[in-house]
Amino acid sequence: MDRKIVYFDNNATTQVAPEVREAMLPFFGELYGNPSSMHFFGGQVGAYVTKAREEVAAFLNCEPDEVYFTSCATESDNTAIRGCADWWGKSMKMVTTAVEHPAVLQPGRRLKAQGHEVVELPVDATGQIDLERLRAELKGTQHALVSVMWANNETGVVFPIREVAEIAKEYGATVHTDAVQVAGKIPIDVKKVPVDMLSISGHKFHAPKGVGVFYLRRGTKCKPFMLGGHQESGRRAGTENVPYIVGLAKACELATAHMADEARALQPLRDKLEAGILATCPNVRVNGDRAHRLPNTLNVSFEYIEGEAIAYHLSDLGICISTGSACASGSLDPSHVIRAMGVPFTAVHGSIRFSLSRYNTMEEVDYVLEKLPPVVKNLRDLSPFGPDRDPTTFQ
Ligand SMILES: *Cc1c(COP(=O)(O)O)cnc(C)c1O
Repeated sequence: MDRKIVYFDNNATTQVAPEVREAMLPFFGELYGNPSSMHFFGGQVGAYVTKAREEVAAFLNCEPDEVYFTSCATESDNTAIRGCADWWGKSMKMVTTAVEHPAVLQPGRRLKAQGHEVVELPVDATGQIDLERLRAELKGTQHALVSVMWANNETGVVFPIREVAEIAKEYGATVHTDAVQVAGKIPIDVKKVPVDMLSISGHKFHAPKGVGVFYLRRGTKCKPFMLGGHQESGRRAGTENVPYIVGLAKACELATAHMADEARALQPLRDKLEAGILATCPNVRVNGDRAHRLPNTLNVSFEYIEGEAIAYHLSDLGICISTGSACASGSLDPSHVIRAMGVPFTAVHGSIRFSLSRYNTMEEVDYVLEKLPPVVKNLRDLSPFGPDRDPTTFQ
């Protein structure tokens, strides 16, 4: 089916860059050796993994032997959390935030069920954490693991990760950050931001789905998660996904080359979208700290209507966006991130996220600004709720 696609869901996944696809192709063809093999052919392929590791190390400003390739950022997050808990046992306290990705929240909740002390720091109405609360939770701890995301996938809110890491260090804590949403958008430098562990995912910045990176600072106390062979210095068993590792390294190289230009090009698109929505749709609120936000992300609540309904109608028009709802259970649970920010009941269900990439254009923004306001108006006309029909008193 040939239809126009306006893809504004880049925080969910991105298109593989043509340069990345090109770099991967030989490894689906003649370069199929196993890097662990003793023969020259294994070594030949292994050299590309070595080179990829060096490129990722340059991207993070770390040493190549601090870079471990994984299957995805979910695995990297689990590795960080499980690995520290396995090292310290029950004496470890975990401090995280209420707005983390489920790949951090769920392993944290598992630890809690197993008897660890686990604290999810609340956020304020702008989605920011209180560093004094973090400090208070770390006081008197013996072995703490701080896991705080660098930027939020739903709102684009950027946390002061350098301060978080510095405070954590004052208390001797180990620090992990889920940096999935900053890769390719904000420079990552683990010499300036003293985290011990960091997760990124290929498919969020134009490499394929199914490859991630786990950064582990030398000397950090963390047990391996995936046990088996000796790959990745024994820290992550399993035969290396060579094509994807090469692709991820290429995506890092592209990100470094284009990051500054991209942010400059993307932000005006996002800002025009935001201003256009605010100007044409009444009863709308922008979610998240606008002063500390990724240049590509816009999260808006349309009061009195369902985000799912908006997404569904936009999808019919070829526009791909997302809501934060967890529809998996069949219930329309509102996003845990928007809820944690204390967004009013009338707006919590009507939140949708627009997330842009280098492949979006101003024409696409104009198309969305043309199509969205009538969709919102129609849904509002159908809604039993409204500013003069308060849902909290609706019988
Ligand atoms: C997408 C995402 C993940 C999960 O990444 P996968 O590679 O798909 O497992 C984790 N954290 C954040 C913030 C994300 O946006």
